[in-house]
Amino acid sequence: MAFKNADLVRSLYIHWPFCPYKCSFCPFVAFSKFDRFMVDYQQALLKEMDDFSVESGTRNKLKTIYIGGGTPSTWPDDLLLEMFNKLNDKFNLEVIEEITIEANPGTVRYEQLALWQKLGITRISVGVQSLNDEVLEKLTRYQKVSDVRQFMKWAGGMFRSLSIDLILGLPEISDDEWKRQLEEIVTWPIQHISVYFLSIHEGTALYFKVKRDAVLLPADDETVDLYHWTIEFLKIHGFMQYEISSFAKLGHESKHNRAYWSRDLYKGLGVGAWSYDGEARFQNEKKLMTYIEAQKNNETCLAYKELLTAENVRFEKVMLGLRSLQGFWIEDALEGLSDAKRTEFFEKVGMLKDQSFIKQVGDRIYLTTAALAIENEVAVALTV
Ligand code: SF4
Repeated sequence: MAFKNADLVRSLYIHWPFCPYKCSFCPFVAFSKFDRFMVDYQQALLKEMDDFSVESGTRNKLKTIYIGGGTPSTWPDDLLLEMFNKLNDKFNLEVIEEITIEANPGTVRYEQLALWQKLGITRISVGVQSLNDEVLEKLTRYQKVSDVRQFMKWAGGMFRSLSIDLILGLPEISDDEWKRQLEEIVTWPIQHISVYFLSIHEGTALYFKVKRDAVLLPADDETVDLYHWTIEFLKIHGFMQYEISSFAKLGHESKHNRAYWSRDLYKGLGVGAWSYDGEARFQNEKKLMTYIEAQKNNETCLAYKELLTAENVRFEKVMLGLRSLQGFWIEDALEGLSDAKRTEFFEKVGMLKDQSFIKQVGDRIYLTTAALAIENEVAVALTV
């Protein structure tokens, strides 16, 4: 695959694409009713791990591993154990700082949690999304709130960090209901919360429902107001915002996501997985059978490669700096620009400062609270 600097990779993403059902809003590489291919997929995944290890020529000392999906909590215990044996064989996990697995509470057994703990998993990211069963069912996410509460009783205290995902802006969730849900959530034994705006991705079942008015979404400005309320509420309860969508108790920020936002190298394994080698971004084949067959036949499973241009790099540095609330260096946004473009950049900076969307401290530029919900527009404006 010609992954440059493979030996320098310190973060690994592993994709498990199987789901018990397909949620109507899902834009991910995920398959329901394909469980019969789990064993074949595992063989393909392990083969990709072998190939990467040969390419690297060393047992990379990993700092973070993220097992995402799909629904990794449907990974059968024996196969997961086999995958971890391979991980330990091909990589050096002696200095690992974080291993995360995503879980759908409706699919987790207590014995599974004990196994995950034994395997060295330190962090669980739980897909909660909402505490309203009816709304979840309408989104064809057949998970019960009672499963989530049971999961919290089991998993609380077992792992270094428990994180939950919530979706803001779901249909039929009033402001009051959202606030009541958060009041319960902050009493759970969790250390991290991700709050995502509902996105309607073209081609999803939800996209077609919205198009024919079968689902009514809340107005954008109401959702943005609620987002600002959420930031303040979580802060009062000890969850500090450290990225547009991420809130954590002190010391529980996601190390793996930080690696993405810092543009560190990472290798993604599995169908549809993305990688970054410092020069290019890659994506594996997104079709399950094509990925499996490619691995079986010793062919490349790469479907997409984009060599980053100077403009791409400037945009990533600006956008990730704004998103992660850590700001970006002005000189990074100016790299390689002509005098005319530099002038244009400073005009944009002046305009966005006047609108109170950004602030400058020394040679760095940061997003203001007022612009948190329009970070992408600000990043686009600043990439001239
Ligand atoms: S559980 Fe996650 S990955 Fe699976 S269908 Fe639902 S949103 Fe997609």
